[in-house]
Amino acid sequence: MPLDIASISIHADDELATSSDVAAPIHLSTTYRYDSDPSKLIPAAELSEGDKPLVYSRLHQPNTLRVEKILGQILDGEAVLYASGLAAFLSAMTYYNPKNVFIGDGYHGCHGILEILERNYNVKVHPLDSDPKLLQPGDIVHLETPVNPHSWAFDIEKYAKIAHSRGAYLLIDATFAPPPLQYPFEFGADMIMHSCTKFFGGHSDLLAGVLVTKDQKIADALYRDRLLLGTNAGNLETWLLLRSLRSFKVRITQQSKNAEAVIKFLLENKESLPDLKEIYHHSLQDDEFVQKQLPNGYSPVFSIQLVNSQKARSLPSKLKMFHHATSLGGAESLIEWRCMSDTTVSQELLRVSIGLEDADDLINDLKKALSS
Ligand SMILES: *Cc1c(COP(=O)(O)O)cnc(C)c1O
Repeated sequence: MPLDIASISIHADDELATSSDVAAPIHLSTTYRYDSDPSKLIPAAELSEGDKPLVYSRLHQPNTLRVEKILGQILDGEAVLYASGLAAFLSAMTYYNPKNVFIGDGYHGCHGILEILERNYNVKVHPLDSDPKLLQPGDIVHLETPVNPHSWAFDIEKYAKIAHSRGAYLLIDATFAPPPLQYPFEFGADMIMHSCTKFFGGHSDLLAGVLVTKDQKIADALYRDRLLLGTNAGNLETWLLLRSLRSFKVRITQQSKNAEAVIKFLLENKESLPDLKEIYHHSLQDDEFVQKQLPNGYSPVFSIQLVNSQKARSLPSKLKMFHHATSLGGAESLIEWRCMSDTTVSQELLRVSIGLEDADDLINDLKKALSS
């Protein structure tokens, strides 16, 4: 029986331990001594598929190898770690080298990267639901689900069929709902990306990103590109990520439960919270695929719309249990007047990332702030 992700997060990298330390040591070295036995020296040209030699830390390094081992097993493929979520997205675009990209709403940074590719390389960027005939073999459909900032879910299977009918590939940005909430490969995704800065990091203290593929040859190509582009995650950051992964499952499942309780409260008390106009979250969608795609709980991220921009602007300062800050996925609950970092959204919108505080404390805090 395959191990549960809780056990994977703690033990999948045991075989890569280089000492008897229970807590993994922090490896800072940028370069590694070759074997002192000349018969064990393998020239780079003679390496086999999947080999990950320790030569220079831009190629591979011990903290990263351990993180990749764990993330690969959690996400069900070969994981390649990057310096950030955006470095991962750029690396996917560099690898696939599409002529056309279909993309919907979602993280502004991914749109920004596509603007650069449009400017420099004439890549054509189309809305997500454009005519599939515009897609050529090798092109990309990029789907963020659940999507920023409204946390709506999109049907992965539907977009996989559209992409594959044209020989294109489906890339899923699943940052909002990592396992055990959502497994995009089961619905036809070709590649998965995550900003590990969010739920995998979980402590708002590191930047990292990951691409996951089912194909070892693609992973090897991604490692090669990463070595040349220098998009690898830093040694210290990857150690922080390894530390974070140990508690990953309890965090994501508890954050998901907390969010469910908060949303339930907001829904049930909407009448007595006159400033609250709308709650956006995929758990409130009635499309059939949502439950199928997220069978083990929903993302801890959602948005609320208040009755006017003035109320939205001042709500964060009334809250004690939420930091007013961008980002998501950490142990700390965050709320953001979203127009502070995203130029495309209404000024009535607040994005919320539920953390690990007690759900009743979060609810009481919101109740007080929304009724004052
Ligand atoms: C944060 C985020 C990114 C970018 O990740 P970084 O680690 O900040 O580079 C990409 N997609 C989504 C959905 C995100 O939330």
